[in-house]
Amino acid sequence: SARDGSQAEACTSSTLCSTRVDHTASPYYFEAISLLKGTFKLSHFRKNQLECITATLDGKDVFYLAPTGGGKSLCYQLPALCKSGKTQGTTFVISPLLSLIEDQVLALREKGINAFRLTNAADTDAAHDALPRLRKGDNVPLVYTTPEKFINSNIVQDIVVHLYERKLLARFVVDEAHVIGGWRSWRESYASLGILRERWPDIPIMALTGSANELAIEDIKESLALRNPVHLKQSFNRANLYYEVRMKPAQKKVLLQEIAGFIQSRHKGDTGIIYCQSRDECEDMARRLREEFNLSARHFHAGMDRDEKRVNQHDWSKGICKIIVATIAFGMGIDKPDVRFVIHATMSKDMDGYYQETGRAGRDGGPSDCLLFYAYRDVAKLQSMLTNPHDSNRPPPDEVERQLERLSAVVAYCSNESDCRRVLILRHFDEEFDEEECHKSCDNCCKLGKTVKENCTEMAQQAVQLLSNLIDSGRDRGITLNMFKDVWRGRKSKNIAPYSGLSGYGAAANIDHTMTERIVTQLLCRQVFSTRRTTSGSGFGVNYLEVCFLLMVVAIVSQLFWAVGLQR
Ligand code: ADP
Ligand code: MG
Ligand code: ZN
Repeated sequence: SARDGSQAEACTSSTLCSTRVDHTASPYYFEAISLLKGTFKLSHFRKNQLECITATLDGKDVFYLAPTGGGKSLCYQLPALCKSGKTQGTTFVISPLLSLIEDQVLALREKGINAFRLTNAADTDAAHDALPRLRKGDNVPLVYTTPEKFINSNIVQDIVVHLYERKLLARFVVDEAHVIGGWRSWRESYASLGILRERWPDIPIMALTGSANELAIEDIKESLALRNPVHLKQSFNRANLYYEVRMKPAQKKVLLQEIAGFIQSRHKGDTGIIYCQSRDECEDMARRLREEFNLSARHFHAGMDRDEKRVNQHDWSKGICKIIVATIAFGMGIDKPDVRFVIHATMSKDMDGYYQETGRAGRDGGPSDCLLFYAYRDVAKLQSMLTNPHDSNRPPPDEVERQLERLSAVVAYCSNESDCRRVLILRHFDEEFDEEECHKSCDNCCKLGKTVKENCTEMAQQAVQLLSNLIDSGRDRGITLNMFKDVWRGRKSKNIAPYSGLSGYGAAANIDHTMTERIVTQLLCRQVFSTRRTTSGSGFGVNYLEVCFLLMVVAIVSQLFWAVGLQR
């Protein structure tokens, strides 16, 4: 297929594949490449890895932005082993996640590297072992710690001072540096990391993150007082992922059949992740995939007890079970290279989440599928969860606003049927992407040639006019999104009959069904229409249609220049 054919070419320019490196550009090239091959058993550097390694070995501060799975760890693990750098001794890694620290230290030890962790969770053995060695000045290339431990523990501080005085402190590394600042500054200790520069001004600092938010980046550089940092950015494009969005079937049973069919036809025996919204959905879907489709599926969510979680995650990562059906609680610290598909049975809450979740596919560089099932009713559900006054976990009001905005970015993405998915995703990370580079590895690019742009202004104005008529006649109360579409199309069902005299009823009778669907979705995306969810006595939520008057007026009087992709 076009997809497979383009894989090889795509690799030369892609982020997660090799790029030819001019080895004369780095005085450390020969030592670095021999460590890469000998110790890390990898064949070549990814884009910017050698540049990053070179800069830190030169004693410079580095800021490195690369997507999750981009290979940031190597950028400090490898220089930690180099003998030819300008600074020698121990590389101190500060990382917020205990499980990540644990995994990395274990993996390093398997490679024969003398790595230690100084964390509260570390078994006392390791700590007892590490401290005397560090004090004695033994060669300990890597020490991992959490920001809390680093800031609060006198022992850790003493060790740093001790190493520093003997010129055995090679560099500080701040991993997942986006945890500094922003509304996430609940990790107060991260905000205090300014002491690195204050107390040990000549020790180079490397900050790494997978979050491209401009403000966050400035925050990081400032909080750490980085000095003219070498700023490296890896593209966020994941060339080996195929992106697709499908209409989500209304019936659960049909959705399940479609998911199972997709796996059986394209991913038989492959490893994959299916994301669902709720814990019940996860359990239900995993069970039915097992029982009705004979697929090797388990569930995972935050409501399970620790042991059960550990068993399911372990079995999945070892390939004992192939498919994990999970809430977004699953994934932090997952580093399984051969995930061949990620299915979103429900849309993500924001584009960052979508990127992270789909990003768990294809870390080994092999072709992988990202399939999302989209339905407006899911949007409404997410919206109402955010705005529900009875939810005690609800964030503060301005945060709710921000999250609603983030959600509408996902809606715009999902309901876009004409633009290259990569262009849309990467735009979110402020990265310009040429759709030619997609090489038909998204659903919309595959439609190219079959897609025309059509001006839908008149039809959209018609819809807006209809809602306006409903309001004028005082009959907008209690009208749901589906009822509205039925009135517009002029359906003759019982609950629609009372509206048949209204001007605009049946105006879309001759318009293609999918077109009316698209237009209503676009109006919702543009916030001309909105929905309000109310909970009836029975506990079932109902979405009623509402309107933004200002935008509605604008919509009626102005030409609406928008186009909808149309598959011929
Ligand atoms: P990040 O911290 O950026 O999310 P990691 O450091 O965890 O990414 O690396 C993700 C995966 O990429 C790991 O499995 C790692 O072994 C692999 N990797 C890193 N660099 C290379 C490389 N040059 N060639 C092949 N695989 C690599
Ligand atoms: Mg990492
Ligand atoms: Zn594309």
